[in-house]
Amino acid sequence: MAAPLAVAPAATKEKPSLVGLSREGIGEQLAGIGIDRKHIRMRTAQIWNWIYARGVTDFSDMLNVSKDMRTTLSDAFTLKRPEIVTEQVSEDGTRKWLLRFPARGAGRPVEIETVYIPEVGRGTLCVSSQVGCTLTCSFCHTGTQKMVRNLTAEEIVGQVLLARDRLGDFPDKSTPVGAAVPSEGRLVSNVVMMGMGEPLYNFENVKDALLIASDGEGLSLSKRRITLSTSGVVPMIPRAGAEIGSMLAISLHAVRDDLRDMLVPLNKKHPIAELLEACRNYPGLSNARRITFEYVMLKDVNDSPADARELVRLLRGIPAKINLIPFNPWPGTNYQCSDWETIETFADIVNRAGYASPIRTPRGRDILAACGQLKSESERMRVRERMALTSMFPDTAD
Ligand code: SF4
Repeated sequence: MAAPLAVAPAATKEKPSLVGLSREGIGEQLAGIGIDRKHIRMRTAQIWNWIYARGVTDFSDMLNVSKDMRTTLSDAFTLKRPEIVTEQVSEDGTRKWLLRFPARGAGRPVEIETVYIPEVGRGTLCVSSQVGCTLTCSFCHTGTQKMVRNLTAEEIVGQVLLARDRLGDFPDKSTPVGAAVPSEGRLVSNVVMMGMGEPLYNFENVKDALLIASDGEGLSLSKRRITLSTSGVVPMIPRAGAEIGSMLAISLHAVRDDLRDMLVPLNKKHPIAELLEACRNYPGLSNARRITFEYVMLKDVNDSPADARELVRLLRGIPAKINLIPFNPWPGTNYQCSDWETIETFADIVNRAGYASPIRTPRGRDILAACGQLKSESERMRVRERMALTSMFPDTAD
């Protein structure tokens, strides 16, 4: 008789989350567990309010839902937040979370970073859209990390919920003692899609997440306070304006195609003229809804007065704001930050032409939380190991 086959224990299946679903999506899930169709609208509205306006993570806290229904919901679904691997607080109050999300399909668990930047009148959350990035912008640390996968809408909106949890930005929650937060108003008042990844390469999930973030019966962030930043995925820019309607930021960084081809290789596909044309036609563009152009200041690369004058010429006719970003170095980069005097001269030229061009004060540099420095810690360790190995055994350099 053949020996009985060993049966592997069934893998414990994660319950589906209701976070990141549209109202229709929640309704379908409720119908799927047999909730009476005529109650679905009301139940969805209740659940939506508890998740996004009250920040609950446990169905048993949904006090206007009957006890039996709470048990049914909790047996079928989860509202779990992302797992926090580390939380670092910079000496300037910037906070960075390394978050881990479970494997999707055959993949492995993944890690991304989310950064909170408190200022006097606002608190900005920099949210990631992908694990790694395909675009290899040469000044960006994330660009050196292999693309692993897109984040789901749940994982994108989960970053906002988690930040509000940790900062005490939901009703009945308190802010950690000593945390740097704006002195009044909402603690997470602005969201920028400027973390890891190119949001327009993950359009549907980013769109779903941002529509949830701006929903007036939940997180209620004004679309004027949500900024989607792209390195120039031109074909998706009109859709972003029409279907998401947030503010737009462009990672420009150079005024000549030959240089931009090097700094932002996507430029080879969608050169500057094409990109600026899409900006001119961005739905809803006006003086009140200006496009932000991000310009990283790289010493002796893109920082001359002639570059500044060309920038002014290129942007003529586009309601725009120019953010000058002093380069934030990361381990292994060959770029250096422009001298302060050079940055000021550049800013003067742009300001005199009538563009508001704040020099973005570097934030969170001591915890590698500044612009272009994000990367998952496991990747950072791999880079450190490779660098150590390369210095010990120079022949192993790739
Ligand atoms: S700047 Fe943005 S698009 Fe470019 S490599 Fe970094 S994360 Fe990707």
